[in-house]
Amino acid sequence: MQIDEMIMAVQKAVGVEVDGKAGPQTWGAIYAALVKETIARKPPVEAIERVDDRSERTIATLLPEVRPFARALVQKAAANGIQIKVISGHRTYEEQDALYAQGRSKPGQRVTNARGGYSNHNFGIAFDVGVFSGSKYLGESPKYRGVGVLGADMGLEWGGNWTSLVDQPHFQLRPSWAQGMKEKDMLAEFRRRVAAGIPAYA
Ligand SMILES: [Zn+2]
Repeated sequence: MQIDEMIMAVQKAVGVEVDGKAGPQTWGAIYAALVKETIARKPPVEAIERVDDRSERTIATLLPEVRPFARALVQKAAANGIQIKVISGHRTYEEQDALYAQGRSKPGQRVTNARGGYSNHNFGIAFDVGVFSGSKYLGESPKYRGVGVLGADMGLEWGGNWTSLVDQPHFQLRPSWAQGMKEKDMLAEFRRRVAAGIPAYA
């Protein structure tokens, strides 16, 4: 199912204006009414039509709940004339520690302030996108802001809205139990859940 058809089907089902533009409310309904059920019944890869191979490889590392949002963002961006790919997804604690060492105990530029267990990427709820022009990756582009607006409109949290460390390529799907929670408290709860084997979105 294409993303706009899905949005309109959900809007019709929940009885709101059918305009094909999903705000947070429609996205909540999409998740509750369609996506979650689809995920339970068949492979999550089928919840929303697949995107490009590189993005799909990254999306496969994310939690099933996050995958439809990542795909939808790629499709929404394309519909708005912006080519993006999902280029970074889940990282293990070890991979995060290696990244943290860069620019500290190892050579290179510092790329993160988070050690293993202290990044949302360690829990499969976060992904980074790259803006592309054909096959060329654009590390900096005003288009990141446009993608941020689209993502926030879907109910994703956008790193470009952060005040301490602005991170425009970054998106994450905050669980409902974490609404209004401080980032560090949410991360602590994620670490607790991983250690206790409790699902992230339960
Ligand atoms: Zn990120």
